[in-house]
Amino acid sequence: MAGPITIRSHGVHLYLVDGREGKLLFDAGWPRSLADLKAGLEAAGLRLSAIRFVMMSHAHPDHAGLMQKLKRTCGVRRIVHEVQRGSLAELNRFFERKPDRNYEPFEIDENDLVVGRADRQALRSIGIAGEILETPGHSDDSVSLLLDGGDAFTGDLTRPDLATDANAAALTASWNALLAGGALMFYPAHGGPIAAGVIEEMVRRKA
Ligand SMILES: [Zn+2]
Repeated sequence: MAGPITIRSHGVHLYLVDGREGKLLFDAGWPRSLADLKAGLEAAGLRLSAIRFVMMSHAHPDHAGLMQKLKRTCGVRRIVHEVQRGSLAELNRFFERKPDRNYEPFEIDENDLVVGRADRQALRSIGIAGEILETPGHSDDSVSLLLDGGDAFTGDLTRPDLATDANAAALTASWNALLAGGALMFYPAHGGPIAAGVIEEMVRRKA
């Protein structure tokens, strides 16, 4: 299996997921990384216009930095999870103090698809065969995308073997939710893919 299209953008892995209405970009990258994204798309024979939707695993600068610019420059529809509202406001404040980063503030508007906490099926309404799961542990606002085929995109969700006393309980619950949901292969934002069996073993050892 070839796996999803992966774009390396300033040290962050962004992933392209197929949908009935176009591609979904999972994680947007740093504010100034549009050229990286374009180059990655080009290498895959694609243009920026191939992206119809974008979502972020969590509102850290290297994952959400480009969300507003992508919407403004190519009209992508943003998908935001309810648990990310507060952290988005925090991200905007973070960049207010760093005007040199060219960050465009992300204000949720009526075109955004805001996914409620109980609504695990929201993606199906836009033709994507998968669901969004809340997967806290790295941050409270972290979510993962789990496709019906078993590919799971986990952002910065800390590997079970790297858990600390402070986050072990949350991480174990998050990984178990993904495994129970049928995840077969994990695609993190930093590093290569990890098979479900490997994660399962790490969770077991940590228990
Ligand atoms: Zn992070």
